[in-house]
Amino acid sequence: MLVQKYKQMLSAKSVIRELSEFATARGKEIGYDNVFDYSLGNPSVPVPQQFTDEMIRLLREEDTGKLHGYSPSLTIPSVRQAVAESLERRFGLPYRMEHIFMTSGAAGALAHAIRLVSEPGDEILTFAPFFPEYHPYVDLTGAVLKVVPPQCDTFQINFDAFEELLTDRVAAVLINTPNNPSGVVYSAETLQRLADILRRKSEKLGHPVYLISDEPYREIVFAGVDAPCVSSYYDNTIMCYSFSKSLSIPGERIGYVAVNPACEEAKTLIQMCGQISRGIGHNCPSSIIQLATAKCLDLTADLSVYETNMNLIYNELTSLGLTVVKPGGTFYIFPKAPEEDAKAFSLKAKEYDLILVPGDSFGAPGYFRMAYCIDTDKVERSLPALRRLIKENY
Ligand code: PLP
Repeated sequence: MLVQKYKQMLSAKSVIRELSEFATARGKEIGYDNVFDYSLGNPSVPVPQQFTDEMIRLLREEDTGKLHGYSPSLTIPSVRQAVAESLERRFGLPYRMEHIFMTSGAAGALAHAIRLVSEPGDEILTFAPFFPEYHPYVDLTGAVLKVVPPQCDTFQINFDAFEELLTDRVAAVLINTPNNPSGVVYSAETLQRLADILRRKSEKLGHPVYLISDEPYREIVFAGVDAPCVSSYYDNTIMCYSFSKSLSIPGERIGYVAVNPACEEAKTLIQMCGQISRGIGHNCPSSIIQLATAKCLDLTADLSVYETNMNLIYNELTSLGLTVVKPGGTFYIFPKAPEEDAKAFSLKAKEYDLILVPGDSFGAPGYFRMAYCIDTDKVERSLPALRRLIKENY
């Protein structure tokens, strides 16, 4: 018999995917250049030349067995070592190779982190607005994703609601800063308060409540914004990182789990990742990609276009009178829709060839997401359409 939970998922298609498919189809009619497609978070900037050069060098100079052979089950030691050194240099925590496990992007890292600390039936708490893929990431392990309602004036954490939902069933708390979809970066104050609550709860329970920190946007932080290192606030933190956005290589599927060296049984957790990997058929990212990435740990693609785009859109939205929290990073913005029903708003926007994603699936109905990882020229050309949408309808 087919497993119904997967079959049922077929009919609950992702709204983001549906809108993106609509944009592609509309593009065939009027030219994709004329569709203001703000649906997908697919990085738009070129890969750094150093990454390409390193790939070419590896292919030309290195042994094919090393490049194309199986990766050790805990991933390549020299790569883990390089990641640990880079993290220690940047954040001052004593990471060692034994705290690092390379994964297939942040999705792969989260697949391991969730399985490390939760049993089927346990709860994982996250905060709205949140990345909708957290549902399959968590639900398909048998754990249960519970969502803390948003603090809409800031998109920091709604602590009253959090404390109510932090029951004894919660195995871990999953955060994402800088955040998809709000673009907000959690402040030092937010992280400190979160850590204090988790410490108190862990003490009461007699075992740690883990913090899973999903950080694919860590390098996309705008001028003047402080992006504190989450792991510095709470010992039992499992960092899930990705190079998808920082190096513009989402198709290469590379990231890592970094367990805070101060975490209880930190090294055991990483060894357990090797066992989880066997069970879920992850079996390590490709060897050549691990090796090339290790040479690019301290660089990023030129990410400046995201800030340029954010400022253009933010200024336009505010001048149109929309309520919006200014993003501190990422390539997303999450304004309040000018009517209660953001789905209806998104439908109206389509008539102006503006593809805007309603916030319902992010746990924040009444808001909408714009993924502005597109050319600045297109952002500029979309602004008159945005103006007409608002002025002709509201
Ligand atoms: N977490 C968040 C918040 C994301 O936005 C994404 C991708 O868009 C992921 C995880 C998955 O990232 P990756 O492509 O590295 O698996």
